[in-house]
Amino acid sequence: MAILVCGGAGYIGAHAVHQLTAKGEKVVIIDNLQTGHRKAINPAAKFYEGDIRNCDVLKKIFTENKIEAVIHFAANSIVSESVKNPLKYFNNNVYGMQVLLESMVNFGVDKIVFSSTAATYGEPEKIPISEKDKTAPTNPYGESKLMMEKMIKWIPNLRYVSLRYFNAAGAIESGSIGEDHQPETHLIPLILQVPLGKRDHITIFGNDYPTPDGTCLRDYVHVIDLADAHILALNHLREGGESDIFNLGSGQGFSVKEIIAAAEKVTGQNIKTEIGERRAGDPAQLIAASDKARKILKWTPQFTNIEKIIETAWKWHKNHPNGYED
Ligand code: UDP
Repeated sequence: MAILVCGGAGYIGAHAVHQLTAKGEKVVIIDNLQTGHRKAINPAAKFYEGDIRNCDVLKKIFTENKIEAVIHFAANSIVSESVKNPLKYFNNNVYGMQVLLESMVNFGVDKIVFSSTAATYGEPEKIPISEKDKTAPTNPYGESKLMMEKMIKWIPNLRYVSLRYFNAAGAIESGSIGEDHQPETHLIPLILQVPLGKRDHITIFGNDYPTPDGTCLRDYVHVIDLADAHILALNHLREGGESDIFNLGSGQGFSVKEIIAAAEKVTGQNIKTEIGERRAGDPAQLIAASDKARKILKWTPQFTNIEKIIETAWKWHKNHPNGYED
């Protein structure tokens, strides 16, 4: 039986497919290549180019393959874009989930691992954030992911794990796959564009937050550790574990300035900075309590050092300065 990975050509999806196939799992990918990359598709997986909103493609996949479970990454994920164009997010993310769930029900597929986000919490009431805390998204992206989580919960006989990621970072250590968003909005790849000579400086979005150095604190978690959590979640469901929601983070917060300093150490170059305005909707701190995933899923992140995480990102970006286009 195979695992259907929706969005297996994207950043986290491609790393998950790598880890799944390395463990001998049979993988089928569906990806519309809107934000995913053809070159990120693992040759060990069977690939269908298509959209999860298209029930005919899903029907074809579920008919041609014996699918045991779904791991669902296929979604739009840029906060600023979601504010400008919320209906794109409700269509692709929420409606996409509806069609996927309908097909799963029709074909009797009863397990799903869902790629959710810390953006479901919104502005946290306390740090670290626990799964029991209030969910109050502050943008349509986070709202769409929360709606997707809620939809899954109501489907009879469907068992699920939703994984709320904090800040995904890094790349596989070989440097063969990595982060390539167009446009790029994430801190670490943008910082690394400075030593790559692709940008003159990095703008720090606000230095007047109520944090030790005035810049925002985030919880960075390595993409391979995230990928491994999906496999543990899948095995949890296979073993009859209960449906549940888990945070995935390191439990440690790093400020924007600390990340820049770590990137200078890793790259051996000075990174020019400028102080800019706060970015709308950025909470001062987002740090996960992820003891639940460690306890129940037995998740043990391997990448606990921020410099090591940045080192893996640097290896990818140095070898692929134009992402998958090279
Ligand atoms: N950030 C920044 N400059 C940039 C991009 C991001 O100062 O050019 C900050 C951003 O305000 C946030 C942190 O870096 O505090 C992480 O942002 P990112 O977009 O990577 O992830 P988010 O936490 O928004 O999911």
